Amino acid sequence: MFITCADSRIQPAAITGAEPGSLFELRTAGNVIPAFSPHSVAGEVATIEFAVVQLRVAEIVVCGHSHCGAVNALHAGAPALDHLPAMLRWLATHAPFRTGTPTEGLRTEGMEHVLAQVRALEDYPFVRDRITAGDLRVHGWFYDIESGDVSAFAADRFQPL
Ligand SMILES: [Zn+2]
Repeated sequence: MFITCADSRIQPAAITGAEPGSLFELRTAGNVIPAFSPHSVAGEVATIEFAVVQLRVAEIVVCGHSHCGAVNALHAGAPALDHLPAMLRWLATHAPFRTGTPTEGLRTEGMEHVLAQVRALEDYPFVRDRITAGDLRVHGWFYDIESGDVSAFAADRFQPL
């Protein structure tokens, strides 16, 4: 399963080299994964449940990217989203707004954002159960739009794949 941003510059099949039909994809604005709730009516939760419980995917990649508009909005703050009330509610509900000086291409913030989404995913009971059972692995990836490089979180940092 590949969870990434809706951004058109992200092409999961090209990034992974996956054959057609082999990637189960979920794309959301900012690759945001909503916090789990047993009473959720979110399509994202249903999609993840189907992949994990029904399809029994063995690997889930959460892939963020540089120059992400959602990460930028999380930095710019709520006033920047006055004209996008649905986006404001989506981000404000599931991802914290940030302060401080953004790094080039929002890389550091984007990577931290990926890890926050991985933590949210690992908090889903059916995800946690399969991780505990040792038959599901969740990965945090970061795609650099300018270079095309992909890095993966391992040993406490993002490293080139
Ligand atoms: Zn994005």
